[in-house]
Amino acid sequence: MGEARVTRLAAADAAAVEAQLGRAPRGAVAVGWRCPCGRPGVVTTAPRLEDGTPFPTLYYLTCPRAVKLCSTLESEGAMAAFNARLAADRDFAQRYAAADAAYRADRAALAADLGLDDGPIRAVSAGGMPDRVKCLHALLAHSLAAGPGVNPVGDAVAAELGEWWTAPCAPLPEASEASDSEVTR
Ligand SMILES: [Zn+2]
Repeated sequence: MGEARVTRLAAADAAAVEAQLGRAPRGAVAVGWRCPCGRPGVVTTAPRLEDGTPFPTLYYLTCPRAVKLCSTLESEGAMAAFNARLAADRDFAQRYAAADAAYRADRAALAADLGLDDGPIRAVSAGGMPDRVKCLHALLAHSLAAGPGVNPVGDAVAAELGEWWTAPCAPLPEASEASDSEVTR
């Protein structure tokens, strides 16, 4: 397997995520999606945390505003509507199943890159994929990290939210001068 190279967040990004979550990010190896405000909005998380705990949620939504908007959609019953559509719309359901496969493939590739054993979570997905919608936060995070056209539910959530960062997000303390990530051992 060779030596594991672990890509960690740049210090400024780690500090921003800690401020967003109210705790230090666990297992975050890269910015999965950067908000136009400059902050990380999604972090890519290692399939195992530093203590070895398997961690299936590859893409984790950190932007507090996006988190809150997803929670509002959930409380308004959006998941029931998505689940009804999955049951009624075969094309939508097939694209959602493909999103699950893409998600798990991304995670397996990262596990291989990092030299981590992802065996215990290889069959575990996120957000309810492949046949249920259970967490809009996880599905939006997937869409933001993967780009449009991969996760139809996450894409629909993103469309519903619109450009939430233009509200705007609170300004950054300093202009982002750091690169997305730095490679360390
Ligand atoms: Zn933002």
